[in-house]
Amino acid sequence: MAILKVAQLGHPVLRRVAAPVAPSDIPTPEFQRFCDDLLETMYAYDGLGLAAPQVHESRRVVVIQFAGDDEPFFLINPVVAPITDQTTAGYEGCLSVTGLRGRVERPDAVRVDALDRGGMPLAFEARGWSARVVQHECDHLDGVLYVDRAEPRSLAFLAEFRKHGPLLPADESRDDEEDEGDEDAESPGEAEDA
Ligand code: ZN
Repeated sequence: MAILKVAQLGHPVLRRVAAPVAPSDIPTPEFQRFCDDLLETMYAYDGLGLAAPQVHESRRVVVIQFAGDDEPFFLINPVVAPITDQTTAGYEGCLSVTGLRGRVERPDAVRVDALDRGGMPLAFEARGWSARVVQHECDHLDGVLYVDRAEPRSLAFLAEFRKHGPLLPADESRDDEEDEGDEDAESPGEAEDA
């Protein structure tokens, strides 16, 4: 496994529409190795999600880990559709936009259809914080970054965000979205990079 270099805001790969993965490529050693590398890179940078374009691979693959003890899972060629008109404003960060936080309003719940790492169809509904992470990651596959969707006046460098708190109120923080209730690594509303 290898830790890959993370593309930063301004690199054109982050703005490309990524190419679908051919299902026949999924079982190949090359693709499986890439999945391992994507996961290891996410762990190395303490992200809770990482999309292939963020490591300079313009392919429709993301890996997400919602909580520390959950198994990470891969979404290949994901299709994400809102299943509610309700939206929530929450703060996000991104490994490709180092040191920034911003408030993004997103649908509260989405349906996800994808292939998993074994090439099997995967369908589920994600709500709350999980829905936010899925949308953030899958946006990367269309060349969209959270700063495109963020309220401009909410943007803050992480150091200032920690010092002064959010400039605009958030409807949610990770702490009150998690059902486990034992998230200790996060201060309210801080968000993680994804
Ligand atoms: Zn991101």
